Amino acid sequence: MSRRIGLLGGTFNPVHFGHLRSAIEVRERLALDELRLVPSARPPHREAPGVSAEQRLAMVHLALGNTAELQVDDRELQRDKPSWTVDTLTSLRDELGVEAPLFFILGWDAFCGLPGWQRWQELLELAHLVILQRPDFDQEAPEALKDLLAARTIASLDALQGPAGQIITLEQTPLAISATQIRHLIGQGQSARFLLPDPVLDYIHTHGLYRPDRQD
Ligand code: ATP
Repeated sequence: MSRRIGLLGGTFNPVHFGHLRSAIEVRERLALDELRLVPSARPPHREAPGVSAEQRLAMVHLALGNTAELQVDDRELQRDKPSWTVDTLTSLRDELGVEAPLFFILGWDAFCGLPGWQRWQELLELAHLVILQRPDFDQEAPEALKDLLAARTIASLDALQGPAGQIITLEQTPLAISATQIRHLIGQGQSARFLLPDPVLDYIHTHGLYRPDRQD
């Protein structure tokens, strides 16, 4: 049997419970063998992060601690080119072979931005897409994605088949937490505790991240 692998890409600036809880729930619902968090090295669609890629990676490691259910995949930090998702999925597909089911997980906000991604039409040839609901983003799907959603979304997990090509939306515990909110709170000198793991918050304070004089 092929291994079933899920990838949750992100800037993780910083990683928080919205990412972690969603990752655990997707792993269980899809019976994945592995769910990997993939920090992006130089997010091409986003502002340059105010902290280094190594610091964001360190925070993901701290967040997971000894959590056996989740892994970190730092392949985007090994590359010196921009970290396009299509390249990440291609490199993983090369490792896993054509048969292995591969799942790329992204929030609704990120999915709505898909038409701006490099070679985004190829993503579904490489993986299934798993869309996470975000209670803090209720925008409508852009026109460019409506046909794709209609054609590829499966009504239930019983219809899931093949290594790639389907769109899956899952009910998950709604957590309206964003990294923007956390950076803002810390920048204002307010507490971000219980929005993210304590070891990550301790790291942020120790390294003076997201303080007003360090904001991006
Ligand atoms: P920012 O506020 O800086 O934009 P973010 O909180 O959205 O950051 P990212 O690292 O950009 O965090 O997110 C990585 C992926 O996780 C994205 O696909 C995003 O949509 C998804 N995600 C982030 N927060 C949540 C959440 N609370 N619930 C579900 N999905 C989430």
